[in-house]
Amino acid sequence: MVLDMFKLDGKVAIVTGANTGLGQGMCVGLAEAGAKVVGVARRSCDETAALIKEINGEFTAVIADLSSTEVIDDIISQTLKAYGRIDILVNNAGIIKREDAINYTMADWDAVYAVNQKEVFFLSQAVAKQLIKQGEGGKIINVASMLSYQGGIRVPAYTASKSAILGLTRALANEWAKYNIQVNAIAPGYMATNNTEQLRNDENRSTEILDRIPAGRWGTPADMQGTVVWLASKASDYVNGFTVAVDGGWLAR
Ligand code: NAP
Repeated sequence: MVLDMFKLDGKVAIVTGANTGLGQGMCVGLAEAGAKVVGVARRSCDETAALIKEINGEFTAVIADLSSTEVIDDIISQTLKAYGRIDILVNNAGIIKREDAINYTMADWDAVYAVNQKEVFFLSQAVAKQLIKQGEGGKIINVASMLSYQGGIRVPAYTASKSAILGLTRALANEWAKYNIQVNAIAPGYMATNNTEQLRNDENRSTEILDRIPAGRWGTPADMQGTVVWLASKASDYVNGFTVAVDGGWLAR
């Protein structure tokens, strides 16, 4: 049955940035589909744990600051200790720092790149090594952005890092397809989370953005669930290196 292909029973998923926003929504979606979820965050994941408990799902939190690659070995070993294997990685954690390009500092640039790029690559590499060792393939899902396609305003490091996610997704998909590892990405549109709080609080920008979204509303963490489950499941086994927009039609405009 085709719907059985979407089931994640027995699978183990690592999701970064699991305490809030899109990461929290994807943790719940993956758990609802049957996966055991390891949520990585620098703060408490109690809220996410409670949401997953409500649906009788399984969740383990790993507290780690993803601005350093030194935490990677611990994320892998805590996941293996909790559930014995890894099948899915969702590279969701990301930061945005807004400033005019002319005044943008190296410190802000490095901070954005550390989380949005360096960590994504090296955590993916560590997970891929484990997937190859297990010999049963797996799924890596990156989180891109509308700014993987467009320039944006006052967010040069974010735009550069998210544009690079598109290329990195393709590059890793090419090299790891032979291990039955599919690497894909989701490009969320304008979603109501902490990431867009400043934009939503600015009445002019908020109206401009809403006017341009064909769906006529901001996205929500729940809007990510169908796509992340699809990309984490057998239903996407012949989808490699692609970035799917979940954007209420923003890019179609
Ligand atoms: P968010 O609420 O700001 O979530 C970002 C997540 O990343 C949070 O869990 C955050 O933890 C975590 N994170 C950031 N730096 C970290 C670090 N050094 N160590 C550990 N965790 C860290 O915003 P969101 O919208 O859900 O963002 C999720 C992803 O979607 C990001 O990659 C973002 O760029 C992307 N995205 C969002 C939108 C949108 O419109 N919202 C659009 C396109 C793409 P804290 O809570 O501790 O900060």
